[in-house]
Amino acid sequence: MDTLRIEGGQVLRPDMTVERADVLVDRDDGTILDIGTDLDADASETLDADGCLVMPGLVNAHCHVSMTLLRGYADDKPLDAWLREDIWPAEAALTADDIRVGAELGLVEMIRSGTTTFADMYFDVPEIVDAVEKAGLRARLGHGSVTIGKDDDDAWDDIEESIEIAREFDGAADGRIRTAVMPHSLTTVGEEYLREAAAEAHEDDIPVHYHANETTDEVDPIVEERDERPLSYAKDLGMLTERDFIAHGVHVDDEEIALLAETGTGVVHCPASNMKLASGMAPVQDMLDAGVTVGIGTDGAASNNDLDMFDEMRDAAMIGKLAADDASAVAAEDVVRMGTAGSAEAIGLPGGALEVGGVADIAVVDLDAPHLTPANDLVSHLAYAARGSDVRHTVCNGQVLMRDREVLTLDQAAVMERARDAVTALRDRI
Ligand SMILES: [Zn+2]
Repeated sequence: MDTLRIEGGQVLRPDMTVERADVLVDRDDGTILDIGTDLDADASETLDADGCLVMPGLVNAHCHVSMTLLRGYADDKPLDAWLREDIWPAEAALTADDIRVGAELGLVEMIRSGTTTFADMYFDVPEIVDAVEKAGLRARLGHGSVTIGKDDDDAWDDIEESIEIAREFDGAADGRIRTAVMPHSLTTVGEEYLREAAAEAHEDDIPVHYHANETTDEVDPIVEERDERPLSYAKDLGMLTERDFIAHGVHVDDEEIALLAETGTGVVHCPASNMKLASGMAPVQDMLDAGVTVGIGTDGAASNNDLDMFDEMRDAAMIGKLAADDASAVAAEDVVRMGTAGSAEAIGLPGGALEVGGVADIAVVDLDAPHLTPANDLVSHLAYAARGSDVRHTVCNGQVLMRDREVLTLDQAAVMERARDAVTALRDRI
């Protein structure tokens, strides 16, 4: 058997306790064989975790990975103006090669900061599929459709593309890639298209993922036009089921929170994006109290501006307390659970916990740093003090993607060079 042993570290268990243990991984099927202090098998490969915390790989549950190319391209504007004046025109000029290198850049950044799994909405999805296959991560991918401003034929083409992409690539990369049908939002996609997209997706047991209740500008028109809240509208459309997940959920009222809990719909909280675009503060503690499955996502790098999930967990804790006006809200354990198991559950992929028999998606965090000293409480450190750059090794599906801070599956220097060149050419085209 081809095995990997992660040895000498402390291990974060699913109940958020930390214990001294080694982790033995079956690399053939990508699962965890054993966790303990006296594992007997000789391993084919070892990773040194002395002075480190071994934790589940982080799960970035909402991203637009190729937007790394637009990092710093336009900042300091509200969502609607930012999208219409800057982001959509730039995205219209992106080529398939740009999408590819933007994705690779984002994947290098994710691997370096311990993210092993992500959910992504973008276009030219086959390029992203190839990049993920090569990089070795786990992902739920989809084509984001927009129908406003399009004639009926173009609108249906865009919806059809989302459905076809979802069908074609579900199970790609030996099952590491799953898909979703991804209409952009409840206001950028018309009612008949949303209804059809959801019906077609669910016919094949494929989830629907979309932005919802992100800003009041998005909520108010639905309330005025339909005399119902957005998530009640989404439920009528068949888009609020256990396999579906929404991004943001900032402006949700008590009835919508109850709907999310009842239907089992996942919510992906994107605190940095919500703060940067001044979208608002999501009532995360209220959602957790109601039993809603809540994960965490970075959103695209243009509204964040990085893909570091440690930053994102810290932001989630901070804004969660502010939103609840309660320092005990969105506590360290909750935020670490949201960034791992909560996200995995929300997007319907395995991972987010280190358990025998579970997938071997693992981040090894180096604790030998001034900002992580002293080790009073390691879960607190993960929530409040650790950074993506503290990650020393990253493993996904039993394969080592980064060893001693060197990314093995992608050529970091070459990817960065190609990204710089792509953006120089893009700026000339716009
Ligand atoms: Zn988004």
